[in-house]
Amino acid sequence: MATPRILIAGAAGFLGSHLCDRFIAEGYHVIGMDNLLTGDLNNIEHLFKEKNFEYYHHDITKFVHVPGHLDYILHFASPASPIDYLLMPIQTLKVGSLGTHNLLGLAKEKKARILVASTSEVYGDPHVHPQTEEYWGNVNPVGPRGVYDEAKRFLEAITMAYHTYHQVETRIIRIFNTYGPRMRVNDGRVLPAFFSQAIRGEGLTVFGDGSQTRSFCYVDDLVDGIYRLLLSDYPQPMNIGNPSEITVMQFAHEVLALVDNPKAFIDYRPLPVDDPKQRQPDITKARTILGWEPKYNREEGMKLTYEYFKKAVPRN
Ligand code: UDP
Repeated sequence: MATPRILIAGAAGFLGSHLCDRFIAEGYHVIGMDNLLTGDLNNIEHLFKEKNFEYYHHDITKFVHVPGHLDYILHFASPASPIDYLLMPIQTLKVGSLGTHNLLGLAKEKKARILVASTSEVYGDPHVHPQTEEYWGNVNPVGPRGVYDEAKRFLEAITMAYHTYHQVETRIIRIFNTYGPRMRVNDGRVLPAFFSQAIRGEGLTVFGDGSQTRSFCYVDDLVDGIYRLLLSDYPQPMNIGNPSEITVMQFAHEVLALVDNPKAFIDYRPLPVDDPKQRQPDITKARTILGWEPKYNREEGMKLTYEYFKKAVPRN
């Protein structure tokens, strides 16, 4: 059988690079694409020696050309932290809209199956808890997170339109908070922030009173969910995440206990605008349709992630 060929947009990012690893390991020919706006070539440097890996430096908001046949496309290109989309609001909107349109056009042209990365942010500050895929969300379109949330809601809408109108084979994943090695140290998200602050012996910047909740999924679990969803025949949006929910304050204490730096402390800061109060995926669909559930608990995942941050951040 011919080697399947997959295009991964956002290949040099946190999730994209782990996906490149997984598909190379599964014997695919991987074409990685990135414009390095928030990605980092260090994440995929180890793959350049692979005969089944090639890399294109390209911004998918411009017309995308890939020579040859394609079986699959993964769309994981986007700034993905609240700080990034505050700094890059227009790029965030463009990659979720124009970038998605271009990749859907490519999928149609190549008769490739495409999986697009959506997000729990489509649920906004949710009134339904835990969040099922049927919930339509509570999003402020003109708030600071609107550029990301609405771009991803548009991504879902145009992907479904290509599915129904052009019969493109599409898959939509709604990703909940995910962590692991290769997260950008200074991307502002809670886990890189807390780890680097604890290692440096600084204050852990807990926003608000820290009572807001999140549910954190280890990256290998997420990648396995993506792999299964891609190979499934399910075209509706699917939540992938770890339902184990904790408050941001509990999370800060877990990081403090793990890093064990006596200089580190809790430093309260104002709660950002429109920060969702709670978030937990209902993963019934992933369990029943994909036979997927997370394997790593937070203790295991956090230990593996700490190994990475220890190397990435100099200790004080
Ligand atoms: N957060 C925090 N301190 C930080 C960064 C984030 O307390 O230095 C909180 C933030 O207010 C939110 C949660 O941690 O409630 C997760 O934030 P993150 O930016 O990681 O992602 P989000 O889930 O909000 O998209």
